[in-house]
Amino acid sequence: MARWFQRSVYQIPRGTRDFVPEEMWKRRFVQRGIEETFRGFGYGEIQTPSFETLELFTAKSGASIIDELYNFVDKGGRELALRPELTAPVIRCYIERLQMAPKPLKLFYFGNCFRYDRPQKGRYREFWQAGCELLGTDSPEAHAELIALAFTILRHIGLRDIVLNIGNLTVIQAMFERLRVTDAVKKDLLPFIDKSQFEDLFSALRVNDVSPQEAEAFLEMLQTPDLEKITAYVSRSKQAVAELERLRGVLTLLKESFGIPDPRVKMGIVRGLDYYKGLVFEIEAPVLGAEKQLCGGGDYELVSLFGGTLVPQAGFAIGFDRALLALETEGYAFPEASLDVFVVPVSEAAMGAALSAATQLRFQGLSVDLDLVRRGIGKALKYAAAQHARFAVIIGPKELEDRVVTLRNMTDGSQSTCPVTELAVRIRG
Ligand code: AMP
Repeated sequence: MARWFQRSVYQIPRGTRDFVPEEMWKRRFVQRGIEETFRGFGYGEIQTPSFETLELFTAKSGASIIDELYNFVDKGGRELALRPELTAPVIRCYIERLQMAPKPLKLFYFGNCFRYDRPQKGRYREFWQAGCELLGTDSPEAHAELIALAFTILRHIGLRDIVLNIGNLTVIQAMFERLRVTDAVKKDLLPFIDKSQFEDLFSALRVNDVSPQEAEAFLEMLQTPDLEKITAYVSRSKQAVAELERLRGVLTLLKESFGIPDPRVKMGIVRGLDYYKGLVFEIEAPVLGAEKQLCGGGDYELVSLFGGTLVPQAGFAIGFDRALLALETEGYAFPEASLDVFVVPVSEAAMGAALSAATQLRFQGLSVDLDLVRRGIGKALKYAAAQHARFAVIIGPKELEDRVVTLRNMTDGSQSTCPVTELAVRIRG
């Protein structure tokens, strides 16, 4: 039978995923780790709606962004879009509610994003981002702390092989000025730079009348980590030279004060030139291959565009789904979802005692399930093992008579009896 014929109309939309309990357990485990690190760096959580006015996203990027969005007109005729990212929504909320808050303001978020992307491994139409915005400071220590936070989050959740690259858009603009190419040509070159396709970039530069020597020098600057060489190349731009000086400071802080061993300079980071300015950074997981970028961020300017009072702004977004994929690919040993106790009433007469034992244990903060299908003790224990229960509490006629319960350690099979009131202490060991 043809595949299309078998597929139900009730199938999941393209590029989206369901997460069953085993997957949600892992996702929430990693999410908690991320949130802990944000809080550990003094960030407070913010939540904004899943959809916003379409204009919020076209304001900076222009109408061309609409191709990449899920946008719609609601029943009141409003043009809306499912959020493709959270920076613009957070800045909108900042302007509406938080402009008067003491600075610097540190906001973090965890939320779903929607993009009309072509789905593939690590690229979905609904995905999750964990990110933050830092408002009110752009000191080198603020930027170093921001980058260190992104790196620390990914390390803290257990990733072993991640690479941090830091660039600067003011510097790359100064590099472009040396080439004397038009803005239109520049726009055509950006995708090659973004994807490190240097042969194609070289050809494109040659087609646009850049001499081979100039093209070679440009390519070298995109790839070299040598700040002296880059400074010499952009020496005509005072702004670029000043940014490079700041970058030196940030790199020193990262290494010496934040314990990040190997931050790399990479001027080839372009990240949507119209959005960011100055410092930009990316973190990759080489293990992921093509879709290896886990995090992108930097210094940007949106507040004044949305009508707020200008303040320094910087932030980053981590692709949560990709971080999980990277953990799985690295073979991270996720803890298993487990249950503290599974209660087994051996007979119908024991059901009341079993239910009240379960209730008492739940009140004491333990995770408890019990046999709701009146099966035999053997099958019930098998089910308990499948739920990864650490203990089983067995209540039969003998236990009822003696006013005790049997506590079975599911790991080693050892059993003992005790009153219900002692269970929690024994289980917590
Ligand atoms: P961006 O907002 O484009 O800078 O993206 C930040 C991070 O989100 C990227 O580094 C990716 O890890 C992740 N990301 C972006 N688009 C997708 C997508 N379609 N599916 C899954 N993750 C994505």
